[in-house]
Amino acid sequence: MENMIIPPLKDGRKLLRVNLTTGEVKTEMIAERILRRYYGGGALATYFLLNELKPGIDPLGEENLLVITCSVLTGTLIPGASRYTIASKSPLTNGFAESEAGGFWGPQLAKAGYIGIIISGVSEKPVYLWIHNEKVEIRDASHLTGKSTGEVEGLIREELGDNKIVIAQTGPAGEKLVKYACVLNNLKHANGRTGMGAVFGSKKLRGIAVRGTLDMPVANPDAVKEHVKWFGENWKNNTSNVRLNKYGTAHSISGLQNTGTLPSYNWRDGEFKDAEKFYGETMTDTILLKNEGCYACPVRCKRVVSGTEYNVDPIYGGPEYETIGGFGSICGISDLPAISKAHEMCNAVGLDTVSTSVAIGFAMECYEKGIITDKDTNGVKLDWGNIESMLKMIDMIANGEAIGKLLGEGVAKAAKVLGHDSDKFAMEVKGQEFAAHDPRGKTGVGLGFAISPTGADHLEIAHDGGFADYTIALENVAPIGIHEPVDMVALTNEKLRLFYKLQQVCSLNNSTGMCNLVMAPAFTFPFDKFIEVVGAVTGWRISMYELMMLGERANNMARCFNVREGFTAADDRLPERCFEPLGNGARKGQFLDKQEFRSFIDNYYSICGWDTEGVPTPAKLIELELEWIKLS
Ligand code: SF4
Repeated sequence: MENMIIPPLKDGRKLLRVNLTTGEVKTEMIAERILRRYYGGGALATYFLLNELKPGIDPLGEENLLVITCSVLTGTLIPGASRYTIASKSPLTNGFAESEAGGFWGPQLAKAGYIGIIISGVSEKPVYLWIHNEKVEIRDASHLTGKSTGEVEGLIREELGDNKIVIAQTGPAGEKLVKYACVLNNLKHANGRTGMGAVFGSKKLRGIAVRGTLDMPVANPDAVKEHVKWFGENWKNNTSNVRLNKYGTAHSISGLQNTGTLPSYNWRDGEFKDAEKFYGETMTDTILLKNEGCYACPVRCKRVVSGTEYNVDPIYGGPEYETIGGFGSICGISDLPAISKAHEMCNAVGLDTVSTSVAIGFAMECYEKGIITDKDTNGVKLDWGNIESMLKMIDMIANGEAIGKLLGEGVAKAAKVLGHDSDKFAMEVKGQEFAAHDPRGKTGVGLGFAISPTGADHLEIAHDGGFADYTIALENVAPIGIHEPVDMVALTNEKLRLFYKLQQVCSLNNSTGMCNLVMAPAFTFPFDKFIEVVGAVTGWRISMYELMMLGERANNMARCFNVREGFTAADDRLPERCFEPLGNGARKGQFLDKQEFRSFIDNYYSICGWDTEGVPTPAKLIELELEWIKLS
C-alpha cells in the first residue's frame, strides 16, 4: 500500500465500480480527454448516467445506479474545492437527481486515489463500503440497521480502528425509503436534495467509509501554493465571506425579512414576526459553540450549536439558513433552540431538512383548513407555531407513522392523495420541495425553481439580490458580459441574460467541485483567478469560455436525462401560490403574472437553444459535443 501513488492527470483518474448484487469490485481509468470535457462533479456523473442508465427504470429498484464523483480539483488544498456529487434517478421526482456536499469526504476519496464510484445492484443484506486507498471491502452492516447516524459513525470508526475515517451515510429514514432521505458526511455535511439516502437504502447500502492518505499530484505545485496563500490573505476583504464566517448562511435572514422575502406560514407571507430571534447574529450571540469549515477552507462558515434547552447535540453541527427558514418562519416558529433540535433530529435519522420542514409547513396549512385532522395525525395538533408537534412530526415522517408516511412521499404526492386543492399550496416543482426562498421577490430564483432538472433548487443560480445594484457581485460578472443592475422582480430580457449566465456559473461550480460560497460573483475567487487555479492544478490552458461551456454542457445533459424520462415543458412550472399576492411585508401584494412567467420560461428555452417543449435541439447538442446522447 505504501508504494501506491496517484498518477499525474495526463494518465487519467481512477474510477471505482462496485456491484452490490454480485459483490464484484473493480477499477478502471477515465482518460484525460474525458476529464477535460466533463471535469467531475455534476457533469461527469451525468455523463455516466446517460451512458449507463436505462430510461424508465424504478429509482428504488436494482437497475438504478449511484454515481458519486469528485473533480479534477478535489484533494488539493484549493479552498472550497471539497464538494462531491451524488447523482442517480430520483425517487422523489422520478427524474434527474444530483446533490452536492462539502465537508471532508470528497477529498478523502480523491486522496484514496479515486475520482468517483459507480454503485450498481442491490445487496442481499445491509452493508457498508470501506475504502482505504487501494483496499476496498463490502462489509456487513446488519448490526447498524435502525441506528442513528451518530451511533453508526462511532461504531464504524471503532470497528475499523481509525478515528480519521470519514463516513458518508444515510440514516434510518433512508433505510425506510423516505423519498427525501439524505446522505451526510461527518454527520453534518449533507447531500440533502433529491432523495439520495433513499437510493442508498434501496441498495441496502448504509454508508461509505473512506480513508485516503495519498498525495494529490498537481501540475504546478508552487503556483497552487501561491493561490492558496492568496485566498488565505484575501478572503477577509470580501464582506460576504466575512459575514458567512461570523454568522453562517443565516446571515442573510435580516435581508430577507427587510425585503419581504422571508417565506412564512408556507409562503403565505413574506415577513415573520420575531424573525430576529433566529437571525444569524442571534445564533452567534446565543447558542453558537464554535465555527467549523470544510476541507482546506479558511472561511469556516459552518455552525456548531448546543443548548440545554431541547438538549441539542453539537455532533450534528448547526442549521443553515434554509433549515431555519423551513422549521422557523414556514412553520410559524421563532424558537432557535427548537429549530436547532429539528436540524439535529433530521441529521440523526438522515432526512433532508429542506423537504422535511416544507412537508410539515404544508401539513400545518392542511390542518388549519381541515384537510388533515387529528385522526390522520394520531392526535398531534399541527397548529402553526406548535414546536412539540413540529418535532413529533419529524419522528413520524422518519418512521412512516400515520400522516408521516404520506408526508414522507413528498408534498406533491401528499397533495394528490389529500385533494381539496391542496396542490395549490404544495410548494414543489417536479416533486421536489422549495427551499426557503420566494419567487415573487426573486424572479431569477423563481425561474431556477421552475426549470431546474432536479425540481425546485435554490442553488440553480446566484440569487437576484446581488445584482440589483452596483455591488461587488455585479462587478465580478463583467467578464461574462453583465454590466448593468437588474431589478429583483423583473421578468425581462435583462433578467433572462443574467439568469442564463449565472446558471452556467453555478453549474460549472458543481462540475469542478467548487463551493458557491467562495466563488464569484459574490465571494472571494474572481473568475480570472479561478482560471489560473484550474490551470495550476491541471496543467490545462483554459479560459472562462471553456468553463462556461462546461456549465452549459452539464445543464443540457441533465435536461436530456429528464427528456428521456418523459418530462415536458408542463413540468417547468411553479405552484399556484406564487401567482397569489404576498400577505405582508415589504412586498405585500406582490405576485407573479402566470402568462408573463410562462413567456419568461419560453424565452429561456429559446436562449438555451431548446425547442418549444424545452428539448435541446440537435444543433445545441452538436455545439456542446453531446450529439452522442440519444433522446428517445
Ligand atoms: S465557504 Fe463554508 S461551505 Fe464553502 S467550503 Fe468554505 S466552509 Fe465549506
